[in-house]
Amino acid sequence: MPLTVRPRRKRSTRIIVTLLSGLVPLVLGCVILNSQAQRTLKQSSQETADQALRQFELMLDNTAQAAHELLPLAGQACESVKLALREQVTRRPFVRSTNLVWDDNLYCSSLFGDYQEVVNAGDYNQGKLWLMNGNPVTPDTALLVYRLSEGRGGALTTLDGYHLSNILRLIGRQTLLVLQVGDNWLAAEGKVHTGALPALPVAPTTLVSSRYGFSVSAGFAQGETWRYMAAEYPPLFSLLIFFGAVSGAIGHVLQKRSTSPSHEMLRALEAGEFVPYFQPVVHGDSKAWSGAEVLMRWAHPKEGLVRPDLFIPFAEHSGLIVPMTRALMQQTAALLGPLSSTFAAPFHIGINITASHCRDLELVEDCRLFLAAFAPDSVSLVLELTERELIEPTEISRQLFEHLHSLGVKIAIDDFGTGHSSLAYLRKFNVDFLKIDQSFVAMIGIDALSRHILDTIIELSAKLDLGIVAEGVETQAQADYLTAHNVDFLQGYLFAKPMPAADFIEALIHR
Ligand code: C2E
Ligand code: CA
Ligand code: CA
Repeated sequence: MPLTVRPRRKRSTRIIVTLLSGLVPLVLGCVILNSQAQRTLKQSSQETADQALRQFELMLDNTAQAAHELLPLAGQACESVKLALREQVTRRPFVRSTNLVWDDNLYCSSLFGDYQEVVNAGDYNQGKLWLMNGNPVTPDTALLVYRLSEGRGGALTTLDGYHLSNILRLIGRQTLLVLQVGDNWLAAEGKVHTGALPALPVAPTTLVSSRYGFSVSAGFAQGETWRYMAAEYPPLFSLLIFFGAVSGAIGHVLQKRSTSPSHEMLRALEAGEFVPYFQPVVHGDSKAWSGAEVLMRWAHPKEGLVRPDLFIPFAEHSGLIVPMTRALMQQTAALLGPLSSTFAAPFHIGINITASHCRDLELVEDCRLFLAAFAPDSVSLVLELTERELIEPTEISRQLFEHLHSLGVKIAIDDFGTGHSSLAYLRKFNVDFLKIDQSFVAMIGIDALSRHILDTIIELSAKLDLGIVAEGVETQAQADYLTAHNVDFLQGYLFAKPMPAADFIEALIHR
């Protein structure tokens, strides 16, 4: 079959398209998984930050409570209150030390008792919280100091950094977690730093405490998204690879299919492989040639000469029939045009058209060009439209047939007797000829009913003043019968088979 011939598309292009159809779902799937992983990490960093924030607030509540209880003691002699200061340290789990202040002077400490140190309110974020890197007792150990002051008195309670970094380490097991107070910040390793926070490139989240002057930032290191995907999604990746392979295979198969009928015919059209064959039509009485029907053949490079019924349906389906018919008309005009000055009476040239030709007016220009190639009045162009496939009478088709008639083009209904065309239909399209289908001719002398239909068609055409052509005349008996019944034109193997242009022209010249 010519229509299953190998595609023309280059091998490298096919490989690229196959690869692409495999890779696109794979890449798309990875993008979707990546965004899913990012969402999961974002959620995780938000939850972690939120948990840490609540934990720090709880610890600070405890520390602040100690300060509240001690504040009324501020101003009293250190000797009389230092036990109360130590009691808070013992009773409260996170409190490491307590201190009393009077006139911005720390004068009493749970650690040392009497003490002297200036308190600078500016050290405290919002005047309340100071994250510092140790004190004289434990230098280089983080300490969070809570300051409560009222009038001249004040209380300072400190929270051990050990608890803070413990929380950062335990809650932020997979997450980078930082506690920030003013300019200072503390990470899980337990050191207090000043200045810019460490970078949290993936899923960064910062939550600010509404009750104390601190914030918590959480996030992940660079590349965490891919690490997460590699750890969590292996089954989904296998599925993606499977889908990629299936899609690549589908792409491969579709490419093979997409290069089927219409692609192959387009190639053939461009290569000029559709050529005209000519079958003479003779006068019923004299048997002299009155014209010829142009029948398309596909001169396929590998399959040889292909019959039209094997490819015309594909051509109609793909819309290629219009340019194919145009090419056929151009070849016919180029072959017969130069001989036309020798034609005695107008020579009938039958061209087969389809419903696709009747959807616009392009055919008018094709016919005008065709006729222009012949000597004036030397040919009569007959368009054959099969009755098997009736066309819709639309405004366009009405205009088309009007234009064609004004050009002198004739219309024949082909395969007449096999369809259901009505009288109104014949009138509407200004039909000039009926071509009796071969099946009726073949039944002459065999089947009485077919002969009856044949007689009726002949009578009808006479009444309607239509020319009549009998197709498929193979025997002398058929020819005699048709001539006896005044059929104007005969076509069939009895007179000549469809022949290539060279043979036809040769025979035409010798007549
Ligand atoms: P069709 O228009 O009815 O053409 C007549 C067919 O009958 C031709 O077949 C012809 O070779 C065949 N034929 C002629 N005399 C005899 C005979 O005595 N006995 C028998 N058994 N057959 C005979 P072909 O050339 O194979 O064409 C088949 C069909 O393909 C045509 O039927 C027509 O419908 C279509 N076709 C051919 N060329 C074209 C074309 O250029 N355009 C379109 N749209 N259709 C075409
Ligand atoms: Ca025909
Ligand atoms: Ca026919």
